[in-house]
Amino acid sequence: MDIFDVVVIGGGPAGCMAAIKAGQRKKKVLLLEKNQDIGKKILLTGNRRGNLTNLESLEIFITKYRNGSFLRNGFARFFNSDLIEFFETNGLSLKTERGNRVYPESDNARDIVNVLKRILKKCRVQVYTEKVVTDITYGGEFFVVVTSGKSFAGRKVIIACGGKSFPKTGSNGEGYILAKKTGHKVTKTVPALCGIEVKNENIIRKCRGITLKNVRITASLAGKKIDEEFGEVLFTHYGLSGPAVLNLSGAVSENLERGEIKLSINLKPALSEEKIDARLRRELKANSNKQLKNLLKNILPAGLIAPFLQYAGITGEKQANQCTKEERTRITKSLMDFAFSVSGVRPFSDSMVTRGGVDVTQINPKTMESKVTPGIFFAGEVIDIDGKTGGYNLQAAFTTGYLAGTSV
Ligand SMILES: Cc1cc2nc3c(=O)[nH]c(=O)nc-3n(C[C@H](O)[C@H](O)[C@H](O)COP(=O)(O)OP(=O)(O)OC[C@H]3O[C@@H](n4cnc5c(N)ncnc54)[C@H](O)[C@@H]3O)c2cc1C
Repeated sequence: MDIFDVVVIGGGPAGCMAAIKAGQRKKKVLLLEKNQDIGKKILLTGNRRGNLTNLESLEIFITKYRNGSFLRNGFARFFNSDLIEFFETNGLSLKTERGNRVYPESDNARDIVNVLKRILKKCRVQVYTEKVVTDITYGGEFFVVVTSGKSFAGRKVIIACGGKSFPKTGSNGEGYILAKKTGHKVTKTVPALCGIEVKNENIIRKCRGITLKNVRITASLAGKKIDEEFGEVLFTHYGLSGPAVLNLSGAVSENLERGEIKLSINLKPALSEEKIDARLRRELKANSNKQLKNLLKNILPAGLIAPFLQYAGITGEKQANQCTKEERTRITKSLMDFAFSVSGVRPFSDSMVTRGGVDVTQINPKTMESKVTPGIFFAGEVIDIDGKTGGYNLQAAFTTGYLAGTSV
């Protein structure tokens, strides 16, 4: 059996970066990937354009993750500017778009994979594809990494198998099994960065396809806020999606079993209750002969008016001059609290990342080495870290891969 200095399991961004860094340090490195090729999930990122990272400051970055402070040491060593430099010096031009998101100039995520492949080759990493790792055992001097066909020995092993979201890309939760087999605690895993299913079918059916911009959406459990986002919300056949909802979904997923979760959309987050009421009074006065449903065109997207009035319990055909103070108050309250009861979240097959994973308290944040089983390292989404949309997850994968690869 060939003995390697380092065996890396998983050819995603975390595993590739770890293998590259170990290879650049002249280690004998083997990268095992179950698919026919590495980087299958990278190809899907950023709508296939590859949102690599984000230009936000370190302090903001940390707030974008669950367990963000675990990444502080890592970001001190390899942050967004380092990742950008890594790709640009290896021939991939990048550009920055809205929300400080960084993409390849080519708008093609495949170019990220191609760069990784080229560097892996340059640093003589042996890449074996179509190898599913099923077990890791300790043989005294080295670990034995068991695959479906053959076993490999490694003095150090880096587990970089990803989470269990989009399992068709290869990351289907096997990393958690390997982590448990090597003595680690895996926290509860739930889908994150996914759509949220709601109960109010009558209203949702009518809202389907509508996108709301610049709204605030708040998730609360038993009246207590669990998370809040500002931005875009999209109504779908099952409930709500869009960037603001994706970013809330981890907190919703995590709390699903704790009780009824309410999602409240504030359709006018820039205005106070008094200001909304004053605006309504002005509209009602200026359009006294108009029906309420027509008057609301000045305030809401056209498609939303009928379901909104249904939600508020107001007859749209009513003339503005017949609208009572109580009805006006109801419209104001509904504009500030267009609310839905959560029935679930989309499955792992539809979620971009997994919340939960290898317990961060068992990993040294400076090296990614296990505190429980020395010689085993972790990198990427297999760890209990998940970020919001905007390039944060790939940056975390590359950073933790960098740390593992430079520490083995
Ligand atoms: C549709 C979609 C869009 C996304 N867009 C973005 C984005 O624009 N920006 C961003 O930052 N993040 C994005 N993400 C999230 C990001 O892709 C992941 O967080 C990131 O790929 C995790 O990297 P990783 O290396 O830890 O795991 P993965 O990329 O999942 O790689 C793990 C690899 O390990 C292999 N593997 C698993 N088990 C075994 C085994 N037993 N034996 C051998 N190999 C194994 C898998 O086949 C896989 O290739 C997106 C995710 C999805 C699904």
